[in-house]
Amino acid sequence: MQAAPRLAELTTAELAALLAGGAPCVALVPVGSVEPHGPHLPLGTDTLIGEAAAERAGRRLWERGVAALLAPPVGYGVTDFAAGFAGAISIPAPALTAFLRAVAEAYLSAGLAHVCFINNHLEPEHDRAVRAAVSDLPPGRGSVACPLARRWARTLSAEFRSGACHAGRYETSLVLAAAPALVRRDIALALPDLEVSLSAGIKAGVKRFSDLGMDAAYTGAPREASEDEGRALLDLLAAMIVAEVEEGLSRAAGPDSAT
Ligand SMILES: [Zn+2]
Repeated sequence: MQAAPRLAELTTAELAALLAGGAPCVALVPVGSVEPHGPHLPLGTDTLIGEAAAERAGRRLWERGVAALLAPPVGYGVTDFAAGFAGAISIPAPALTAFLRAVAEAYLSAGLAHVCFINNHLEPEHDRAVRAAVSDLPPGRGSVACPLARRWARTLSAEFRSGACHAGRYETSLVLAAAPALVRRDIALALPDLEVSLSAGIKAGVKRFSDLGMDAAYTGAPREASEDEGRALLDLLAAMIVAEVEEGLSRAAGPDSAT
């Protein structure tokens, strides 16, 4: 299987050759956050999950005739829920939307066919800000691959679906698969389970981890995480990205060309 190239590692001549190559070129842009993820996961968890999923999706897209490029990630987001914990580096939603829109427009005017923002930071205002960045692009030119969308959420693990989706078994498994050296395993194994549904809290109007009793910035069951489960979850996240990209490309090509 061919690995997707990292765009920032290409030369201008190599990129020009890909753009002239006949296959549609697509930028996969992970969008994450600098956000506390319990005492056992790194602040860049959401970004590195997106990068690992993009790598897998990129391979599959090349197999399917799409020239996918792993674009440099955007590692900052709207991170208000974690306010009060060290490392919650939040930027205003309008700034994120404007920046991402500019990035997307730049790729499109450079000749790429489609830009997919891969978002694994699941704070609602952040998700809205990312989606707003592609909403005004021409049809099929931009997409957001995010597990918050119901069609993708239901493909994921039981803990994720319960809404306990922050630094618990779900994300800890993903980081074990994506960047195992960055998981503080001894700490993860010693953490007590916490049955707090973030999604239920959000529906009830809560705006801070601390107001939900998430006193260590995690929920769920980190001690149950495994690398195998993480690999399976990365495959599901990759399938989500491939579907969003292929649907976008066929929308951009117009209704007559949909297969
Ligand atoms: Zn996260």
